[in-house]
Formats: sequence, C-alpha cells, structure tokens
Amino acid sequence: MKKIGVLTSGGDAPGMNAAIRAVVRKCIYHNIEVYGIKNGYQGLIDGNIEKMEIGSVGDIIQRGGTKLYSARCEEFKTDAGQEKGIEQLKKFGIEGLVVIGGDGSFRGAQKLTEKGYPCVGVPGTIDNDIPGTDFTIGFDTALNTIIEAIDKIRDTATSHERTYVIEVMGRNAGDLALWAGLADGAETILIPEAEDDFADVIARLKRGHERGKKHSIIILAEGVGSGIEYGERIQDETKLETRVTVLGHIQRGGSPTAADRVLASRLGAKAVDLLLGGKAGRMVGIQNNELVDHDIEKVLTDKHAINMEMYKLSKELSI
Ligand code: ADP
Repeated sequence: MKKIGVLTSGGDAPGMNAAIRAVVRKCIYHNIEVYGIKNGYQGLIDGNIEKMEIGSVGDIIQRGGTKLYSARCEEFKTDAGQEKGIEQLKKFGIEGLVVIGGDGSFRGAQKLTEKGYPCVGVPGTIDNDIPGTDFTIGFDTALNTIIEAIDKIRDTATSHERTYVIEVMGRNAGDLALWAGLADGAETILIPEAEDDFADVIARLKRGHERGKKHSIIILAEGVGSGIEYGERIQDETKLETRVTVLGHIQRGGSPTAADRVLASRLGAKAVDLLLGGKAGRMVGIQNNELVDHDIEKVLTDKHAINMEMYKLSKELSI
C-alpha cells in the first residue's frame, strides 16, 4: 500500500484532530502518501480530497472539532453513492481508508470493504456507545465538560433550595450520564439501560429535603427522554422548585483532554498499522489499556454494554 486516505464522519468529537494527526504522521513515517478527505463521505463522493504533509497536521492536537470537517451524507447509503466514492479513491490512487467516526460511519466503511475497498474504523464519538472498545475518542473530554458545568451549577445551587435536572448527551447510551453522575455525586442518575422507579426518585428527593439538603442533582441521559418534561414531573410531585439545564452542544466542543489526545494518537496509528499489515474491515479499540481490533461487522451487530457495576455503585453512594 502506497497511499492511504483519512476522513472524519458523523458527529464530531474532541480528539478527532489528534487521530487525524496520528494517521498522517504515521503514514509519512512509513513513507506512505496520505490524503485528507473533507466533509466525510460527502467529500469522498465530491472528490474533495487533498494530499497531506507533516505540516498539515501541525498545531491541531489540542484543538476540538475536526480539521477535515464532518458531514452526514444520505447519498453514501446507496450503492451508487458508494461506487462514486470508490471511483474517486481510485482516481487519486488511494488504496486504503481510515474512517474516524461513530457506528453510522462504520456502516459506510463496512460497505466499502464489502465492495473490495479496504477500510479501518477509528471510534470517535462523545457517546462511548461503540462495542469492542472501553472508550471512544471524545468521551473523556465531554465528560470533563459536563463535570465543569455541574460544578458551576452546584455553586449557584447551594444558594437556593432547589432540585436541578441536568440533561446530558449520549444518544441511546447512558455512559456520559453515569460517569458524570458518579464523578459529581449526583443524587439520581437516569440512564436508558436501567429503569428507574419514579416513586423511588421522588422519595429520595423528599428524604434529602427533610434532612436539610440544600440542593439535589439529577442527571438524565438524553436517551431516557426530555429533561424539561422530567423536571416538570419532579416539580409537580415534590412541590420543590426545580430547574432544568440541557447542556447541549457545549459537550461536543473544547480542547481534548490528555486522555483523549493519547487515545486518539494510539488508535489513529494502529489503524494505519492494520492497513499496512493487509487488514481491512476492522475497527481499532482499547480494552484494558491494550490496543485491539475487531471485525467491523461484529462491532455493528454487537450491543454496547454499560458498566452496571458502576451504576449499582452510584446508587449505593447516593443514599
Ligand atoms: P455517526 O458516525 O456519528 O454514527 P451517522 O449515523 O450520522 O453518524 O453516520 C454518518 C454517515 O455515515 C452518514 O451520513 C452516511 O454518510 C454514512 N452511513 C451511515 N449509515 C450508512 C449505511 N448503512 N451505509 C453507508 N453509509 C452509511
């Protein structure tokens, strides 16, 4: 393999730039030409492709977002769209592709691999919802952004007697909510993977109130439902003043944490190693701090599992 391409696709995540940098530098280290494809699969179809040099990825390791931009592209879900993409890759002589993104993006990579075009996936999403890896790129940064926000809410919360409902991202996964709740000592953590008894949540809030607790924090994963609606239900039931904060896209931005930069560097480099070793249709990941790779097909059919032991612990610590 003499030429490799790299793209970022789907929802962006802090640390994607560090992954791009690792792919580019690792290729150049091995005397392989590397091409950046802008705007994900849309850019692939459009031929929005340019050669990258060592300097192309200078000064980006610390930046959020993605230098290659990201996009969602419906056309790429069709055979015709995928064929157009392969044509462009062939035109540039690119023989293998690194796809940095979430499960949707991996479906695209899987389709290309099925059509005989070698791809390797790198998990980049704040949601941490990809099977086969303990962590995805961006999760740690988003988590720290949430913690910072909750700490600030806590400061104002102690001045008033209130209940706070904080809605965090995560799509169908509760990882961000669980980790943030545990890290911030939230009274209640609501995740889609576990049913929470509303009566129990109310009882806990009332108990805390009677104990003289100044404020209570409920973290709700977006996969559970609307924080605003939940807040209204809580207020109606407890008669305690309840405020809702939907953190939104703030969670996707910011400079990546050291953990995300290191993870992205390791995974990006590993993806290049796999392609150079003749492997395709794989996703790189990290499990027990070891780099691993799995069949993308299996990643797409397996279900991400949240750490239920941690969920149980969060309940034990928020009595
Ligand atoms: P994420 O990668 O963050 O999960 P999406 O689910 O939006 O984000 O997927 C990103 C892009 O991947 C889509 O816009 C589309 O171009 C491509 N993609 C998603 N599903 C498929 C599919 N079944 N076949 C081919 N490409 C797909």
